[in-house]
Amino acid sequence: MRISQYLLSTQKETPANAEVISHQLMLRAGMIRRNAAGLYSWLPSGLRVLRKVEAIVREEMEKAGAVEILMPMVQPGDLWVESGRWDKFGPELLRFVDRNNRDFVLGPTHEEVITDLVRKEISSYKQLPLTLYQIQTKFRDEVRPRFGVMRAREFLMKDGYSFHLDQQTMDDTYQAMFQAYSNILARLGLEFRPVLADTGSIGGSMSHEFHVLAQSGEDLLAYSTGSDYAANIEKAEAPLPTTERAAATQELSLVDTPNAKTIEELVEQFGLAIEKTVKTLIVRGDTEEAPLVALMVRGDHELNETKADKIPGVLSPLEFATEEEIRAAIGAGPGSLGPIGLNMQVYVDHAVAVMSDFGAGANQDGKHHFGINWERDVALPQAFDIRNVIEGEATPDGKGTYAFARGIEVGHIFQLGTRYSEAMNATVLDENGKAQTLLMGCYGVGVSRIVAAAIEQNHDDRGIIWPDAIAPFKVGILPMNMHKSHRVTDIAEKLYQDLNDAGIEVMFDDRKERPGVMFADMELVGIPHTIVIGDRNIDSGVFEYKNRRTGEKQDVPMDQIVEFIK
Ligand code: ATP
Ligand code: MG
Ligand code: MG
Ligand code: MG
Repeated sequence: MRISQYLLSTQKETPANAEVISHQLMLRAGMIRRNAAGLYSWLPSGLRVLRKVEAIVREEMEKAGAVEILMPMVQPGDLWVESGRWDKFGPELLRFVDRNNRDFVLGPTHEEVITDLVRKEISSYKQLPLTLYQIQTKFRDEVRPRFGVMRAREFLMKDGYSFHLDQQTMDDTYQAMFQAYSNILARLGLEFRPVLADTGSIGGSMSHEFHVLAQSGEDLLAYSTGSDYAANIEKAEAPLPTTERAAATQELSLVDTPNAKTIEELVEQFGLAIEKTVKTLIVRGDTEEAPLVALMVRGDHELNETKADKIPGVLSPLEFATEEEIRAAIGAGPGSLGPIGLNMQVYVDHAVAVMSDFGAGANQDGKHHFGINWERDVALPQAFDIRNVIEGEATPDGKGTYAFARGIEVGHIFQLGTRYSEAMNATVLDENGKAQTLLMGCYGVGVSRIVAAAIEQNHDDRGIIWPDAIAPFKVGILPMNMHKSHRVTDIAEKLYQDLNDAGIEVMFDDRKERPGVMFADMELVGIPHTIVIGDRNIDSGVFEYKNRRTGEKQDVPMDQIVEFIK
């Protein structure tokens, strides 16, 4: 590729409104452009990386025996009614009607469509087990799209689905997918950790998430230093002894009383730690069903100084208000209402189910990662208290102590059981000619999110440092003063030709730019290997090679360069 014929829109300045480094660098390196909240166009270099991630995901899927298909992104609402998710999925599901007034949705995931396909397509046990997958655009109307393509509304996902008549093949496929996900992330050169996970709105029993470890990750992972135990804190298990459980229950029930007049009091009652950076507390019902119930703003927050007196329930006993009322009161537009530090969710009907977390971007001291996650419909005696999961304490399997890491969820696998097949009557005939309900697994990879996650782990103050496997180009050619020196031009053109002939992807900087600009762009875009051509090197018969990751420079004889780069 010749930069003179390419679209390379790099920029020096750190863009406003881009909080995390990957978002900043993707904009600065000209990989993506925002069209609207959570909607992005992929520019040439970004798309090349995205396609490489996609290719690795596809290869590992095929290796694991999965078969590629492509389903529509637009899905009939009827199927969602049939599965029971039409009423359950909440506002992340974008719904609309066609000209005949029929309900449709933009697919956030494809359990319904695939179950419908398979119930029509598969009739006999002989056709099972079967794993189908697609790599396709998803849409979720995220409440707070942010961090660029990391939490977008439209994004690229690999979603796979397996079908079985027996638990043994279900377990085998789950294991094969677990392995495939590990292979994908290893090939991408990323540091990752599989963790036990909650099944969320997808449903099912067994579930693991795959997290790319990064400080900017939105998830908090608790893991053991002495064993393989690792879990998303949404799922981490640390059962309380009965007496402590009773005490904790009592303590939590205080949230229902007007005792807690300030955030500090509330937090103290929970035995939580609060940090200076914690500014906003949103107390809400189940985000999908119940309205937001109150919003409290700490006194030291600028929002508070100007707007707090207008907000119902500020620093007072929890008052009920709808999200619209709060938005109107503080003049917040769509998406701008969100927790800045500590996010506690209080489920009003139980008055005890609370989840706390630290919003990404808030300062953390690395210690006070306390959370309580008592699910709405879980009886209290079965609830667990993550406050027992404290860094340095022993737990759940008796080996090692707890440690914490932040992670970016890039993959998620589930055993769904008969959750969808039963609701949608997906059966096949077994050996005895009897109809049996299918067992099902589902397996997602955030293909576009991985691009951002890879940057979170691979960058320095000059830009991106791509792992070789997903670099948009492997080599950059930087001819010095090409337009003044025929020798440099001739040699650069020949090198470009030779590298192309060897099947190596090259970014050839044939612009009339100053060397400083050329170097800065190569480093920002993250090209792993660069070759500098100048009159001086030519005199000594060498190219100056530089490695982006190590920064090491080396003179390589001109006739050995192609082999060297290969
Ligand atoms: P999250 O917890 O981050 O909202 P999720 O659990 O809702 O993700 P899944 O339903 O498990 O997501 O979807 C499979 C994968 O799709 C996720 O592991 C993630 O990598 C990716 N993904 C989900 N939501 C988004 C999004 N808004 N933007 C980009 N990728 C996403
Ligand atoms: Mg989600
Ligand atoms: Mg999740
Ligand atoms: Mg998930």
